[in-house]
Amino acid sequence: MLVNTPAELAVRNGYIVTMDADRAVIPDGTVLVAGGRITEVGPAADVAVPGPATVIDADGGLVIPGLVDAHQHAGMFLSAFDRIGAGRYPTVAPPGLLHGGGDMDAISAVSCLTNFPGFATSPEATEVAALAACAEEIRSGVTCFSEGGGGSADAIARAVESSGLRAVVTSMAADLVTDGDEIRRANDVDELLAAQDDLIDRWHGSVDGRVRAGLNLFFVGACSDELLDGTEALSSAHDVQISTHVAALANEAEWSRRHHGRTGLERLADAGLFSSRLGCIHCGYPTAHDVQAMVGAGVHVVHCPTSTTVLPSGYVDRGMFPAMERAGVSLAIGNDTTWLGGSLVRQLNDASSIHKDRTMTNDPLDASTVFEMATLGGARFCGWADEIGSLEVGKAADLAIVDRSGFRYQPGREPVRRFVEVGEASDVTTVIVAGRVLMRDRQLLTIDVDDLMGRAEAVVEELERSSRPPSGR
Ligand SMILES: [Zn+2]
Repeated sequence: MLVNTPAELAVRNGYIVTMDADRAVIPDGTVLVAGGRITEVGPAADVAVPGPATVIDADGGLVIPGLVDAHQHAGMFLSAFDRIGAGRYPTVAPPGLLHGGGDMDAISAVSCLTNFPGFATSPEATEVAALAACAEEIRSGVTCFSEGGGGSADAIARAVESSGLRAVVTSMAADLVTDGDEIRRANDVDELLAAQDDLIDRWHGSVDGRVRAGLNLFFVGACSDELLDGTEALSSAHDVQISTHVAALANEAEWSRRHHGRTGLERLADAGLFSSRLGCIHCGYPTAHDVQAMVGAGVHVVHCPTSTTVLPSGYVDRGMFPAMERAGVSLAIGNDTTWLGGSLVRQLNDASSIHKDRTMTNDPLDASTVFEMATLGGARFCGWADEIGSLEVGKAADLAIVDRSGFRYQPGREPVRRFVEVGEASDVTTVIVAGRVLMRDRQLLTIDVDDLMGRAEAVVEELERSSRPPSGR
């Protein structure tokens, strides 16, 4: 019996935020771990720590479920953009790609590329990029991320494996490019679906269960109905999650109606993709009808507040995130690649603030809602809520310790709210996944940072050379 297994690891002296059904908080508690799972959680006075167990003293810090980054592009972590200047090199990043509601033709073309120009493209370089992303995820208290596509999915999975993290890996899929009123097929649907099927065979449930494979529709507007149908069939057959960028830009709905007769969300619903296996990334432009349909089907929406406002998408002004939260849409949170969004902790800061500015109230996306988005919400989107997202007996021992000794937390009575609203990634001191300590006292234990920095530098130098425009500007 699990509860009779002697604890191998004990986290004590923690302010434990369980996220269990009662949302219980234990101000001075202990978590025991054996076999990678939680065997006991409770007040210090009630939980005896066996002698042989390794003890980690949380020193009064928050002990939280490991955060779930529901949208990351780990393989796109290293770019040469700030070396070559994205604005000076239009073939890398057209200056108007996402401005003014989005250059939809350009976005469809980019969506059909196997690898984005300006980013690490070889499997070797992608693995370095992904490992760098894993390092930053761990430093942010993230124990699981969902990959959104870009670069070799196998290389990303290998980085996840060596880092000790948990992840859902996917491989980019899109097949249509528009040019004015024209539309042409850029990728073969059967080949895309076969590649996704192979990825599931290779990685789903692998690495002691830490790696799962998911399906990807990189951008719905660049996907044919055949690709949507085939993806739905694969998702049903293998019971795996689907990630897709949709309803992200102001120009998207009108453009989609012109080329496909319906909006992206309408096409997903028509293809039978509306279910709890679907996660809609960004999704700041749903209609009220879409919102009701998503609630009814259990569709997840992943909010990427920082990248959305940086890019800029303009959807905060639509006010749909507070509306979706009120309607009961399953919400998660993602950083949309760390080089763009920053740490997941920053996503918590931004999600809890940007909507208040728009509505001029304190109501939308309060701290407890945002914290749930980053824990249970992400776990639900990943299809992993039976294993992660809360600190409960029997669940995987995925947790993070947050130092709350500083003046951003003290004196104070609402440490979770302080973490959500003004916490920083550097507050995270210790991260544990499946009972294995990946970071302790802010030192990464599974990644050689100096070695990785050297490899990352070499990748970016090569990118800089290969991305330089022919004119030499
Ligand atoms: Zn994305």
